[in-house]
Amino acid sequence: MFYPHEITLPKKVVVGLNVLENVGEYIKAIDIGIGKAIIVSGSSNTRVYAKLVSDHLQHSHTETWVLSANFSTMNEVEKVVNVAREVNADVVIGVGGGKAIDVAKYSSYVLSKPFVSIPTSPSHDGIASPFASIKDVGRATSVKASTPVLVIADVAVMVKAPRRNIASGCGDLLGKFSAVLDWRLAHKLRGEYYGDYAASLALLSAQHIVKFSSMFKARQVPVEAVRILVEALISSGIAMAIAGSTRPASGSEHLIAHAIDLVASYPALHGEEVGIGTIIALYLHGRNWRKIRNILSEVGAPTRISQINVSKEQMIKALTIAHSIRPERYTILGEKGFSEEAAERVIEILELI
Ligand SMILES: [Zn+2]
Repeated sequence: MFYPHEITLPKKVVVGLNVLENVGEYIKAIDIGIGKAIIVSGSSNTRVYAKLVSDHLQHSHTETWVLSANFSTMNEVEKVVNVAREVNADVVIGVGGGKAIDVAKYSSYVLSKPFVSIPTSPSHDGIASPFASIKDVGRATSVKASTPVLVIADVAVMVKAPRRNIASGCGDLLGKFSAVLDWRLAHKLRGEYYGDYAASLALLSAQHIVKFSSMFKARQVPVEAVRILVEALISSGIAMAIAGSTRPASGSEHLIAHAIDLVASYPALHGEEVGIGTIIALYLHGRNWRKIRNILSEVGAPTRISQINVSKEQMIKALTIAHSIRPERYTILGEKGFSEEAAERVIEILELI
């Protein structure tokens, strides 16, 4: 079937050491108006980087407003949108981890203004994707947002992120193994659109982590490993941009992670939960879940529910509701999902306790 399939990609992606210093030049080079910029940051740590970006931009005669997003909620988006409208901002820049990037990305979409992504942590693949996780829009999953026109990933900044965040990024990427299997299944059973190129690109990002897993063993992860991780996270985001949906990057393992968030109120980092979801999803698909569990261990990501602060009862509950989180997204969980007994059994078989 032939129909228009639109793909919006970033104009420029910069990955390197200390590239943040040249933020003004990079933005100028992509030819968007930057008279007035809204900078959205997250917690106190990332505020330092937001201030740095603001100083560099002011140097190149851009007026800046630095706002912080403590939650990825519609309320925070509205705050950003209101200020941006008031000052007639030209661009929205997100500087931070998940929340700052999500809020800035969705605000830019609401405003129809360009979005610049400046991640400070390699913990998830939302860095370059056109989807945002805004908790009170679209049921705990992602919603359509802007593709960043520019991504500036300063590896010198990201290497200083907490060790857990780095392992979480690896977990989010390993999830592509089951996400792509679910996508193919939905294509075969439901006739859903499937794009082999986007699927291959997402798989490549997961294979990258398998290939270089030994580099993530160290307590202090080397800069070179963080660069590999960041590039893989960006590739996965681009795969979503090419597919026009989160399909290549999010399947049953993500539904399980979202269910864990609902049942246990966000007990751990997204990628940590996805890693555990991937062990379960690969088991259901009859694939080599032991191999992925070993890779998760190697990179320092959790493989047991106690490591993500989830009890056996909570995990059983999460597994039984996972299929209902996003009913239109067909996965190996099927239409009925886990029964309680099956959930309990899978927790035992996969040694998740
Ligand atoms: Zn994810």
